[in-house]
Amino acid sequence: MSNKGSTYASPQMGVGEARTAKALRRKLQWLVAIVVACTGILATEIIAASYSDFVVARRNLTEVMAFCRVLDAANYLSAERGPSNGVLGLGVAPGSTVQARLAEFRARSDAALAQITADIDNASRSEPAGALSPILVEVHRRLILARAEVDRIAALPPERRNLAEIEATIEAMFGVIDALRPAIDWNIQRLTNTDPNLAGIALAAQMLANLREDGGRLGSHVMAPVAVGKPLAIKNLADSERTRGRLQEVWAIVGKPGALPGLDPSKIGDLAKIDREFFAEGFAIIDNIVAVGKRSGDYPMTAEQLTDLFVPKMKPLEDLRRAFMDSTVERLSANKTRASIKLAVASLATFSLFLMLLILMRRARSLVFEPLLLARHSIIELANDRPIARLQGKGGEGEMGRLFDAIDILRQRLDERTLLMQHLERQAETDELTGLLNRRALELIGGAEDTDGKDQDACLILMDIDHFKQINDTHGHLIGDIVLQETARIIRNSVRNSDLVARFGGEEFAVITPGDSIESALALAERIRVNLAHEPIVLADGRKLNVTASFGVAEGRSANGGWKHLIELADNELYRAKSEGRNRVCGQPAEATHQPFKAMKSARA
Ligand code: GH3
Ligand code: MG
Ligand code: MG
Repeated sequence: MSNKGSTYASPQMGVGEARTAKALRRKLQWLVAIVVACTGILATEIIAASYSDFVVARRNLTEVMAFCRVLDAANYLSAERGPSNGVLGLGVAPGSTVQARLAEFRARSDAALAQITADIDNASRSEPAGALSPILVEVHRRLILARAEVDRIAALPPERRNLAEIEATIEAMFGVIDALRPAIDWNIQRLTNTDPNLAGIALAAQMLANLREDGGRLGSHVMAPVAVGKPLAIKNLADSERTRGRLQEVWAIVGKPGALPGLDPSKIGDLAKIDREFFAEGFAIIDNIVAVGKRSGDYPMTAEQLTDLFVPKMKPLEDLRRAFMDSTVERLSANKTRASIKLAVASLATFSLFLMLLILMRRARSLVFEPLLLARHSIIELANDRPIARLQGKGGEGEMGRLFDAIDILRQRLDERTLLMQHLERQAETDELTGLLNRRALELIGGAEDTDGKDQDACLILMDIDHFKQINDTHGHLIGDIVLQETARIIRNSVRNSDLVARFGGEEFAVITPGDSIESALALAERIRVNLAHEPIVLADGRKLNVTASFGVAEGRSANGGWKHLIELADNELYRAKSEGRNRVCGQPAEATHQPFKAMKSARA
């Protein structure tokens, strides 16, 4: 993360701190990278799983719908046998209703077959269904031949229609369905391979389709003798019995509630209706024909009438198959919708997660990371007695705000403490009455000079106000104090900034002149003496007091014993000034010495 736009970047941050901040920032970047990577991996796993579920659901739906269309085609080809059988019978004139129905049913079959052909290359299938192509070619070939035969016989006058040819034609129509069976089997195999869960659906659908097909065959087995009014042959009876047995076997498996996988029982339709209409009434129609056909060819109805009577009995079978397939498609379609919603939700959630992560990281940087760095920096600065900017109100309302406020309180307290310390220090070193340095401060400075490495010389001037006791006695102690204050003022005005002035005690004062020769110090003492003597001190009531003082001056180089010795020397000179008549300066250049008194470091006037 860059430092750009940071609210908390501090321009005073030192190199070390900048390095720490950089290291912390790098750690944060790593943390972000790891979190993003982990989230990315998790999100990829979830999205990939959702996508794969969606692809499976879509593929299952496509495959089942393709299978439905094959079964539909088989159903339409079976249904086409109805009007085909009808036109094979005697007494059907060209242009009759059964002819029209035949044309309609053929068109329906052709459309269903065309749909299967289109499905072969459907892009959303698990793989192209190229294996179906040769099967469809064979179905078409047989269908064309069978239809041609139907049309040829239908065009013959009744007397030229022959039982064997009609039976062969009906067989040829059966043959069309038989040619389509490999396509059904192939689809069942494909569904089983695509998803083992679909195997049960595929087999159930096939059984239901077989019911419809065998139901139709049951009628077709007796259709040829009825068409030409001939008794039933042994083959017709045997085929009819076999088909009837197969129908009952299959019905025993699928004709029970709950037998069809995944089908809502309410959608099965009325199983009892199939029992009643097909297995009771439909079988009775065939039984009736068989009973007559065993004895003679005097059937109570034509082939067309038999077709019209029998075909509706198969309708509940077809309804059941359709209901089953519709509910299966509906279920798979719902699965697909669910999978696509899941995929969308997973993608959206992932996107939001990344967005939130990004926002969180940016907020974390500006709301937590940068403020913590600033807080850390501020505390270090405070600990090192360096000034910091005011932080109050900069951290917002939250925890950071409180932290910043707390640091600000700390800053204020430290400032107050520093001021107090400075005040106390000054107080400890200052003479209260005159505002000059006190004796203690002078001793400290003098003592420190003894141990300092500098070897610059300094001179000490000691001065004592003459007959001060008398001033006190004459004018009172308070006036004495004023005299002391005024004397201090006159001394201050007489010295240079680099000179140190202190009240040495009572009415005695000391001046240290760093780096001065004794001659300059003597001159300075003389200047103070003259200024004091020539400037009468004016009291509040207008009275004027003439004050004088005596001065003793000594030079640092002559102070063999250091500071104490220097005081002693100056004191001796002062004593001399007093004894020689007061209001004078005494002091003389000393001989060179190897123990210099060193200069003051910080000059105070
Ligand atoms: P000399 O010329 O020999 O120095 O005579 P002196 O009277 O000045 O000397 P002495 O030491 O006898 O008297 C000093 C007096 O200073 C004694 C003391 O009462 C007075 N004094 C000391 N400190 C203060 C002070 O703070 N205020 C006042 N008003 N008087 C003080
Ligand atoms: Mg004195
Ligand atoms: Mg005195």
